[in-house]
Amino acid sequence: MLKIDSHTHILPEKMPNWSEKFGYGDFIYLQHHKKGYAKMMRGNQFFREIKENCWDADIRIEEYAQYNTKVQVVCTIPVMFSYWAKPMDCLDLSRYLNDHLIGLTNDYPKNYIGLGTVPMQDADLAIEELHRIKKEGLVGIQIGSNINDENLNENRFYPIFEACEKLGLAMMVHPWNMMGEKQMQRYWLPWLVGMPAETSRAICSMIFGGIFERLPNLRVMFSHAGGSFLPTLGRIQHGFDCRPDLVAIDNNVNPRNYLQKFWVDSVTHDALMLEYVLKLQGSKRVMLGSDYPFPLGDLEIGRFIEEMDLPANVKEDIFCNSVLEWLQLSKEQFTA
Ligand SMILES: [Zn+2]
Repeated sequence: MLKIDSHTHILPEKMPNWSEKFGYGDFIYLQHHKKGYAKMMRGNQFFREIKENCWDADIRIEEYAQYNTKVQVVCTIPVMFSYWAKPMDCLDLSRYLNDHLIGLTNDYPKNYIGLGTVPMQDADLAIEELHRIKKEGLVGIQIGSNINDENLNENRFYPIFEACEKLGLAMMVHPWNMMGEKQMQRYWLPWLVGMPAETSRAICSMIFGGIFERLPNLRVMFSHAGGSFLPTLGRIQHGFDCRPDLVAIDNNVNPRNYLQKFWVDSVTHDALMLEYVLKLQGSKRVMLGSDYPFPLGDLEIGRFIEEMDLPANVKEDIFCNSVLEWLQLSKEQFTA
């Protein structure tokens, strides 16, 4: 069975030192301090150590072969978004990352699918880059769950979503810049608590802000099985019903109506939760995802799904049909 991982991250092995180039800011740069490893530095602060499977296309393909997975949807690491930077500088950086993805997908068309990044802080520049990456063959973009603390329903972002719909580019929403991060540094809480909340924040903002209502053909995927949105949908629904004066002010459509309209990945680490997600979303809107190569990811690339007692057609939906529909690609492109 063809298996496509819809959620993985990659970086170019070499990047300019953006802070030096632009003369300000704590941009991420890589220190290749020993063979096969690099330190991601944020200004002078150590952010995270990464291994060569973060940039080496061949090593990644070998690692994936152990889990019978042939294709990886790749996008940058959210900390690279740099939405806080001057718009032209963020465009420059985005183009560098996108050119790397374009090169990778051209070199390995049967193994890699690329999702670009755009300067969300400036709609005109973002749209300019959307047109360019579309022409160069990328099939979508990854964006953050908030843009410099602003929610995705803010009017300034709408033209970008509209352009994605018009160009037929898919969109992946990834949690980052987590709410409450400063107040909960201990116990890895920004990742364990903040990230799922961020994703729910993004889904609720897009639903209640009427984005899906106005752009019915925009194909959006939310990471980590939609974060805490689906597990707390009963509460969200009840809030919509009991306080429409607070919740339904921009869109009076029941939030449950948007189930099965957007896609989610399978990153739950929990078969019982995935069954619940499948019940709400249907197998056509749930797709294999791993968050590879990071430790919080499902680094056995969906082995727990293989082991679940699910009908073969449901597994096939999760492993390839859903992601192919999300990205509007054909199976033959990877199997022929
Ligand atoms: Zn991720």
